[in-house]
Amino acid sequence: MSRTPIPDPIFTLTTGPVDAYPAVLRGLSRPVLYDYDPAFLAHYEAVNEKVRRAFRSASQPVILHGEPVLALEAAAASLIAKGDVVLNLVSGVYGKGFGYWAARYAGEVLELAVPYNEVLSGEAVAEALRNRPDIAVVALCHHDTPSGTVNPANEIGAAVRAAGKLLIVDAVSSFGGMNVLPEACEADIFVTGPNKCLGCPPGLSLLHVSDAAWRKMEANPDAPRASMLSIVDWRRAHEATQPFPFTPSVSEINGLDAALDLYLAEGDEAVWQRHALTAAACRAGIKAAGLSLWAASEDIASPTCTAVRVPEGVDEAKLRSAVRERYGVVVSSGRGETLGKLIRIGHMGPTARPIYSLVAVAAVAGACAALGVKGIDVGAGVAAAMRVIDSAAA
Ligand SMILES: *Cc1c(COP(=O)(O)O)cnc(C)c1O
Repeated sequence: MSRTPIPDPIFTLTTGPVDAYPAVLRGLSRPVLYDYDPAFLAHYEAVNEKVRRAFRSASQPVILHGEPVLALEAAAASLIAKGDVVLNLVSGVYGKGFGYWAARYAGEVLELAVPYNEVLSGEAVAEALRNRPDIAVVALCHHDTPSGTVNPANEIGAAVRAAGKLLIVDAVSSFGGMNVLPEACEADIFVTGPNKCLGCPPGLSLLHVSDAAWRKMEANPDAPRASMLSIVDWRRAHEATQPFPFTPSVSEINGLDAALDLYLAEGDEAVWQRHALTAAACRAGIKAAGLSLWAASEDIASPTCTAVRVPEGVDEAKLRSAVRERYGVVVSSGRGETLGKLIRIGHMGPTARPIYSLVAVAAVAGACAALGVKGIDVGAGVAAAMRVIDSAAA
């Protein structure tokens, strides 16, 4: 369907917003119930329970009613107390950006940064914590999407736990697409959303909160209350006997419900596996086609996003236009510091299907060839991606 004279794309292979699962679209079209209708109260509690199961957590999660940037800002506002020293870990644009929110609430923000095609290590974090014992909160963006690289969250979480500090983890574009779970990475606040790997439209935030984080936020007089940024106010909202602080996004909850049913029925490990296979096929195809990956090494390349270096002399916006105009495929640009240097192919939710890697490789390599890049071999790229898929099927 076309809304304007510009035709809709055939394939949306982006890193978010992503194409939604058809079952999610059907979920979104369910009748809009009154939020205090007993049927909706029971439904809300059941959806919250499904989030808990997806998190493989013992404690009740919190749903906030805005896309995950709301929860990230809320985490900064609630968990960082006046005067706190915050260690912000930066391997990309989102990690860097969290530091700006942190600076609004903290006494001091320290930054531990690596180049945006590399990742942090538990060891480096442990050392930073030894050097400044007054650090109270550490913030990590697990998969910095505009870099397409994945930090070792469990290793970093263990270092933060060993030092007795609190940890905020942005797992927005990784949860649901790879093995990252709030308790395994020792997160005190773990933020994700249904709009990336769970295959929903943007509109909600999902949070795991540790007991230590609840204690600190509830004791923090500056933690937002009676505000869209309040995590504290939503703590008991899933209980049918408790009021909602504000009107919940009824339809988004229905979409999330459908997404969680798919996720839990398929099984998380099977879902992670198809994300990993799609990305592996895509990387093999991109390299064999004569292009290069952004990540400094393949073992840190994301299973949910393949970042491809823009060839020398090519205008990134022209490349994405060619991909869309010639083939009807949409891919993502870089952001901030990575804008213009890379393009990103998303493997998230419904597009984390190995066969989509062929579409991505053919469209990106084909567009490069059309723009005159030398040494591009579309066929070799497609064949290499196919070999990865076939060897997994054998
Ligand atoms: C998508 C995403 C968010 C949410 O931000 P928007 O760009 O506004 O959708 C936050 N963190 C990461 C790492 C993300 O990929």
